[in-house]
Amino acid sequence: MTTILLIEDDHRIRESLARALADEGYAVKSEREGMEGLKTAVEEEIDLVVLDLGLPDMDGKQVLKLIRAVSEVPVIVATARDDQEETVRLLDLGADDYVVKPYSAKHLEARIRAVLRRVGDDAPTVVTVGGLVIDQDAHEARLDGELLELAAKEFDMLAYLAANVGRMIPKREILAQVWRLPYGGADKTVDVHLSWLRRKLGETAAQPRYIHTRRGVGVKLVDPSA
Ligand code: CA
Repeated sequence: MTTILLIEDDHRIRESLARALADEGYAVKSEREGMEGLKTAVEEEIDLVVLDLGLPDMDGKQVLKLIRAVSEVPVIVATARDDQEETVRLLDLGADDYVVKPYSAKHLEARIRAVLRRVGDDAPTVVTVGGLVIDQDAHEARLDGELLELAAKEFDMLAYLAANVGRMIPKREILAQVWRLPYGGADKTVDVHLSWLRRKLGETAAQPRYIHTRRGVGVKLVDPSA
């Protein structure tokens, strides 16, 4: 059974999430303070942590740092701030994903499933998006059966987009996740690799098929036949 740890001081949020997650078949533990949460996260068998940043005893970011110092347990952070700098900083600190408050239990469940799929043993190593087949183990991608000649970072970026298919991803998140660059890296790096990747997929920014970008927002991979 998959055990989720909720670290959240608001008892109404904590209880309604705990109920919703239990209904989905998860075992749920919860803590209302950072220090207790940290203790449970590292001492017990936890598969994923949902961490509220606004805690009574300590800053949630500090809790995240301390968890990361000793554990690789996946962490989804719940933040009240919906801005790119904040979210990239959280990813840099080692968060696996984030949700912006207020969020629904359904949305959180979807993020939990996505993170567990990405990090778990049962993560699919082959992802198919339309005519694109991305094989993580083999480090290979094919388009309509043809092997694509991708540089390492092009493949990593494509694999990250595919793991998040349909989601508009900020370029800075791609920098943080694919290049492991600290916040403040140049978006140009992503733009350049995107244009190479596009060319290899036989499409252009003007006539996108798989890769769709929105200026100032980000990039997403879609199934053009869907
Ligand atoms: Ca709180």
